Amino acid sequence: MASSTVSTRHWTRLPDGEVRCDVCPRACRLSEGQRGLCFVRACEGGEVVLTSFGRSSGYCVDPIEKKPLAHFLPGTPVLSFGTAGCNLACRFCQNWDISKSRELDTLSDEAPPERIARAARALGCRSVAYTYNDPVVFLEYAVATAEACRAEGIRSVAVTAGYVLPEPRRELFAAMDAANVDLKAFSDRFYRKVCSGALEPVLETLHWLRHETSVWLEVTTLLIPGENDSKEELEAASRWFADHLGPDVPWHFSAFHPDYRMLDAPRTPPATLTRAREIARAHGLRFVYTGNVYDPEGQSTRCPGCGALAIGRDGYEITAWNLEGDGRCRGCGAQIPGVFEPAPGSWGARRRPVRLAELAPA
Ligand code: SF4
Repeated sequence: MASSTVSTRHWTRLPDGEVRCDVCPRACRLSEGQRGLCFVRACEGGEVVLTSFGRSSGYCVDPIEKKPLAHFLPGTPVLSFGTAGCNLACRFCQNWDISKSRELDTLSDEAPPERIARAARALGCRSVAYTYNDPVVFLEYAVATAEACRAEGIRSVAVTAGYVLPEPRRELFAAMDAANVDLKAFSDRFYRKVCSGALEPVLETLHWLRHETSVWLEVTTLLIPGENDSKEELEAASRWFADHLGPDVPWHFSAFHPDYRMLDAPRTPPATLTRAREIARAHGLRFVYTGNVYDPEGQSTRCPGCGALAIGRDGYEITAWNLEGDGRCRGCGAQIPGVFEPAPGSWGARRRPVRLAELAPA
């Protein structure tokens, strides 16, 4: 086995000698030497292995608002990294060079979990984000890194499509402190046609995260003109959201820009995001945000008790802070749900690519 290849737990040996990966609903059937759709899980030596353990496609310190998380340690820096491969095949993917990479050799930094945790601490990051590609496909590496981070007092954030089966899901999120789950659309047709996936497992993951875990949850929907932005679909999604996740889970609507295999679709007009936000708020959702556009009001947090500005934002910058240390509104005392500290971080909008080797020698 290569040094980046490790055994995994979530798979089944089939009567015909093949193996089935049980990590995500694709349930890839693999014969010896074959790789799954995600490309990083494969059948070697009669078992399913992960081939990207300890290999990363690069690191960057970002504002936590960029994940996006609006109610989790606002203003703080997060060390973001990803590996290669993905278990969905979204035609609009904005990270396709990573998610569709089949070149594990181009993964630049060798990074054992403890080294990432040490680097995060050295950089002053409060959390590590498993992002760029879905941590579901590098589950074992993400969990080991999150455990190393916990030992250093660093939290972990999964940025995921939530397309995962229940058992691996339990393992992944037991190690996480926060998650941003992509709800790509509210139609199975979209998931099948545009992502080669299915809607129901994602809804199940969202419901489970909200009700069965203490992971701080936020949701993102990238609105693509003509594909997932109709009034009917947004109404139905908002109804489901209010019924299953309740009014306090933040929902981010973000703007699409043409990418990968969807170069013909237009950019999302800001008015579409504003309309989506209004629909969601009309269904009782209290924290609905816009992203990837200039919209300070749509990105700021208003107190649900008195309507005062609780957290002002302009893009990734915090421009106002009117919360008590425990996250209560300074005006009326209403609790803003989330994970807050007495003061926000001051990282700002900076994006800083880093080389791990310079920060945390092996
Ligand atoms: S995680 Fe990868 S190998 Fe496993 S079922 Fe999903 S796509 Fe297939």
